[in-house]
Amino acid sequence: MPTQKFTPELIAPCGMNCGICKAYLAYSRGVPYKKGEVTHCSGCLVRNKNCAFIKRDCPKEVGKLIRFCYECAEMPCKNLAKIDELYSARYGMSMVDNLKEIKAKGMDVFLKSQEEKYRCPSCGDVVSVHDGKCYACSYQGEKPRGSNPKHRWVPNPK
Ligand SMILES: [Zn+2]
Repeated sequence: MPTQKFTPELIAPCGMNCGICKAYLAYSRGVPYKKGEVTHCSGCLVRNKNCAFIKRDCPKEVGKLIRFCYECAEMPCKNLAKIDELYSARYGMSMVDNLKEIKAKGMDVFLKSQEEKYRCPSCGDVVSVHDGKCYACSYQGEKPRGSNPKHRWVPNPK
């Protein structure tokens, strides 16, 4: 088992950790592509997508002129705020909080805390933020009772 599951290259400019994305996990854990069901992606930065959500309308050409959105005085801009709101409501994850953590504590600390947060309780690999699934051992996280009904699941239940 690799000791470091996430690398800085997996952290997109918007603060998304591509390492917990189901398309990245399926791709990197060898789950076969299946049309309409299993998507494959090697990560925003790796694919030179820079930022799938924001780049299109970003005057700073995020990922090019700046590495992370937190380097921008406007953060969070309208686009980032929108995707952040969606992810907070649906997946219990905030890009803006991630960015603040990276800025305050540094990349290493952030990557380690992500590893803790999304560790698979069954095999120690990674569970996806999108569906609570581990693509290495097929563990499926459950949505705890009393949690935000919009959340599909909560990472690493204690
Ligand atoms: Zn697992």
